[in-house]
Amino acid sequence: MSDQLTIALTKGRILRETLPLLASAGIVPLDDVSTSRKLVFDTSNPGVRLVIIRGSDVPTYVRHGVADMGVVGKDILLEHGAEGLYEPLDLGIARCRLMTAGPVGWSGSGGRIRVATKFVNIARRHFAMQGVHADVIKLYGAMELAPIMNLADLIVDIVDTGNTLRANGMEPLEEIAAISSRLVVNKAAMRSRYAIIQQVINDLTAVVPRES
Ligand code: AMP
Repeated sequence: MSDQLTIALTKGRILRETLPLLASAGIVPLDDVSTSRKLVFDTSNPGVRLVIIRGSDVPTYVRHGVADMGVVGKDILLEHGAEGLYEPLDLGIARCRLMTAGPVGWSGSGGRIRVATKFVNIARRHFAMQGVHADVIKLYGAMELAPIMNLADLIVDIVDTGNTLRANGMEPLEEIAAISSRLVVNKAAMRSRYAIIQQVINDLTAVVPRES
């Protein structure tokens, strides 16, 4: 059914926390998303289908309008930009902090620093705003390894409990942004499919936990 509303979801941790919210809004995938290898799922609401993809691809699908709405971490929106998207609702799930971190006791070099991260745009903006000369090195994972191997002085990474940092002799330094998952909507779809999109926004708003 091509006129179905399409919602792009981020797989992994965010998906596990998104599905109960969608279920409360009457949207339940017809197949088990944790075992199925499918990428597109019809739901208990015949007017709604889900696509389940990497978080960094969600804004692309929604911006191009092939998905009408999406659920994605604020870290992705800060890193890749949110042009063409409305961000009507903070879902309050998958909360964490985007932080700088360094080896325990690191007190700065006084000069240029090397920063390893997968969030290169966020890191460049952060250090530029502080007037710090930072050479930003792009990594795709295991940022904590970079200072251990002397690839970088600091990292910019997502911190939840801080256990990953501690296990690698590092400590959090500065918070760059508080992160949670956001509902995003294609701007053109918001006008052309207003009724159904607003209904989903209202249903999700009703079940999202209030700010504590
Ligand atoms: P922790 O050891 O609890 O501080 O978790 C840190 C690691 O878990 C980070 O390197 C992230 O890769 C991942 N992580 C924690 N929370 C989130 C989240 N809400 N979204 C995405 N990744 C997360």
